[in-house]
Amino acid sequence: MAGLRYEIANQECTVDSLRRQMLYSQQRLDKVVLAVEALVELLAEHDILSREVILERMDAIDLRDGNLDGKVTAEVVDCTACHRPISPKMAKCLYCGEERPPIPGVVH
Ligand SMILES: [Zn+2]
Repeated sequence: MAGLRYEIANQECTVDSLRRQMLYSQQRLDKVVLAVEALVELLAEHDILSREVILERMDAIDLRDGNLDGKVTAEVVDCTACHRPISPKMAKCLYCGEERPPIPGVVH
C-alpha cells in the first residue's frame, strides 16, 4: 500500500506522504480545538460570553449555508471542467486545478 502513488493536481503523492499530512493536520486541529475551548472557558469565566451564547452563534453561522449540519460550508460540488467532486474547503479542483464555483450564501 505504501508504494501506491496518486497524481493529484499535478503533484505526485504517496500513501506515506498523505498519511504524514493527515497526521500533521490532525495535530493542528487538536491545537485549534484546545485554543477554542480555552477561549470559551475564559469568556465564560470573565462573564463576557456564556457557552450557550457561543453555541447559539455557532448554530447561526452553521445555518448561513442553509444546513444545520455542524459544518460552515455548503455541499461538495462538481468541477465544471473535469466533473469530479470538489470539497467546499478547496478553492480549486484537486484533480485538474479548475477554480471552484462560488458557494451561494457563503462569505469567505
Ligand atoms: Zn477538475
